[in-house]
Amino acid sequence: MSNETSLYNRVSNYDMWSRRNYLVATVGIAALSGCAGDNGDGTTEPEDGDGDGTTDPDDGDGDGERPEGVSAEEFERGPVPDVYISAMSLGGEQRNPDELEIKADVRFSEYEEAQENDAHQPGTCCANCADYIVDKNGDTFGACSEVEGYVDGEDWCVIYEVLPEPDVPEGMSEAELATAQLPAEYRTATSQAGEERDPDDLQSQEDVLLMESVEAIADGPAQPGQSCGNCAEFILDKNDDMWGGCAKVEGYIAVEDWCSIWEPVSEEV
Ligand code: SF4
Ligand code: SF4
Repeated sequence: MSNETSLYNRVSNYDMWSRRNYLVATVGIAALSGCAGDNGDGTTEPEDGDGDGTTDPDDGDGDGERPEGVSAEEFERGPVPDVYISAMSLGGEQRNPDELEIKADVRFSEYEEAQENDAHQPGTCCANCADYIVDKNGDTFGACSEVEGYVDGEDWCVIYEVLPEPDVPEGMSEAELATAQLPAEYRTATSQAGEERDPDDLQSQEDVLLMESVEAIADGPAQPGQSCGNCAEFILDKNDDMWGGCAKVEGYIAVEDWCSIWEPVSEEV
C-alpha cells in the first residue's frame, strides 16, 4: 500500500548488506524449526532427519516436503484437514471444497520454480495472496480458497490474487498510520498465535523495517512465504476496515505487510 511504500522508500536507504545479515540471524533460523508429527494413533512417523516434522523431498515421489502421514495424493488433491475445509482466506474468501482448481491446471509450484514462469511477479507467493489460508494445525502448511490440496506460504500459482489495499481510516492521514494509536479493541488484543499486545511495549514500524511483503521478498530482506498474514504476532481485523494490528509493533498493520521480526505462526498454533 502506499503508506508502506513510503516506509519502504525510507528503509531502502538502509544498507542492504546489514539488513540481510541481521535477518539471517533473526528470521532465517526461526523459519526452519518445527516439531515431530504424531499420527493421532499413538505412533509417530519417522522424521526425515531435518527436525521439521515433514517427509523428505527426495522420497522418490517428486512431490517435495509434506506433513508426516500425508500421502502424495492427499498432498496434491486433498482432502485437507477439517479445519481448512470451509475456512476463510487472508482476503476474506470462504473456501468451497466443491469448487477448487487442480494444482496442475494453475501451474502451482514452489517459489524457486515460479520464478521461471513469465506470469510470476517478483515477491508474490501464497503468503501474500488473497486466497491463502494460513497454517491452522502447526504442520507449516496451509490451504487455498481456490486450489485443492496442501499449500505452503512460499508456493505460487498463476491465479495469484493481490490482497485488497485497506483505505486510510476516516479522520486520519496516511502519514499517521505508522504511529497511530489503534482502536480500543486492538490495544490489548491477542495475536493469532496467542500473544497479548502491550501498548506500552511496542517497536516502531521504522525500527523493524515494516514494508509490503511483496517488496520485502523481491528485494531480499524477507524469505518467500513470509507476511504479516502468517506471522505469530499478527492481530486480525476486528472492525472490518481491513487493517489489523501487531502484538509487537505499533500502528496500523495490513495483512500483506512484513517486518524484520516476523515469526512463523506455525510454531505457535
Ligand atoms: S497463489 Fe494460487 S495456490 Fe497460492 S494462495 Fe493464491 S490462488 Fe492459492
Ligand atoms: S511482527 Fe509480524 S505481524 Fe508484526 S509487523 Fe512484524 S511481520 Fe507483521
